[in-house]
Amino acid sequence: MDVQRKLEILADAAKYDASCASSGTEKRDSSDGKGLGSTAPGMGICHSYAPDGRCISLLKVLLTNACNYDCLYCVNRTSSNVPRARFTIDEVVNLTLDFYRRNYIEGLFLSSGIIRSADYTMEQVVSVARKLREEHHFRGYIHLKTIPEADDALITEAGKYADRLSINIEVPEETSLARLAPEKDVRAIRRTMGRLRLKLDEAQDNNSTATKAKPPRFAPAGQSTQMIIGADTADDQTILNTSANLYGSYKLKRVYYSAFSPIPDASRALPLAAPPLVREHRLYQADWLMRFYGFDAGEIVDEAVRMLPLDTIRNSPGRCGTATAFRWMSTAPAAKTCCACPASAARPSIVSSRRAA
Ligand code: SF4
Repeated sequence: MDVQRKLEILADAAKYDASCASSGTEKRDSSDGKGLGSTAPGMGICHSYAPDGRCISLLKVLLTNACNYDCLYCVNRTSSNVPRARFTIDEVVNLTLDFYRRNYIEGLFLSSGIIRSADYTMEQVVSVARKLREEHHFRGYIHLKTIPEADDALITEAGKYADRLSINIEVPEETSLARLAPEKDVRAIRRTMGRLRLKLDEAQDNNSTATKAKPPRFAPAGQSTQMIIGADTADDQTILNTSANLYGSYKLKRVYYSAFSPIPDASRALPLAAPPLVREHRLYQADWLMRFYGFDAGEIVDEAVRMLPLDTIRNSPGRCGTATAFRWMSTAPAAKTCCACPASAARPSIVSSRRAA
């Protein structure tokens, strides 16, 4: 199979993973003539849009879409009847370099189906990043998907080369994961998130002295995760509670919400239709209110309904859409002061007034 065909298959197979924003890492560039690429925002970025409207990076690929696991919600599951492909390490490295030079991409988001074992898969993923960084001095952005059961040494090495690492929590509730992805173990996922948090904390320890060495680099853009929305019956209150727990326990940079997309030959355990994309959008708005404005999950969702409203919002002069969408929050001040827009001048006072209320 030629590389072009592999790319068609493995880029398409990767489009369902939403956890790939490139914000928050250290600034690097190659304006001194050494190396290749940069992480400066807006430079060399070319995004594409999936048919469902999602913004995706052109080089968001899987190393392989062959997988030993049979997660019912996943198009790459072992029982799925889709064409399979596998890149070699050099093929991914060369595509990344070529696309970067052509200004198509800002970096690489690399994930993979599980082949042979967690360690073998992780080693393959790490090898791509190692080669890019050490042999080609690639200074662009790298996001690696972490395999939860992988050996600690491999995860440490992944953090040495990657800007961001992510492990998908997959679905909001443990019981749903056991039903939809029986080979996955929520305890292993959370244990690995905990390991990443410890390494991230260690790397951010700036108290190096003459006798205490600087800690090794580890994923400066932190860790993130993705939750699939609408593949199970979890309501928005449950989803936001899970997110709050993940942010609090593992210091995640982001929880990405990905509306479930019906897949070919889907299991009967899955819903027939996708949830409305506006539900995903409302969850992002609520997530923003939690992370930047100090709201608790319980303050955002109407307790009696446990779901965020999906009605269409029209902005009117002096009143923002987010304020209107979250109008049931009786203590939220009106108009611009409850705006979830980062430009809101009133942001610090919102948090303090919420805390004082
Ligand atoms: S482990 Fe599950 S979610 Fe990941 S590629 Fe395999 S089947 Fe899909």
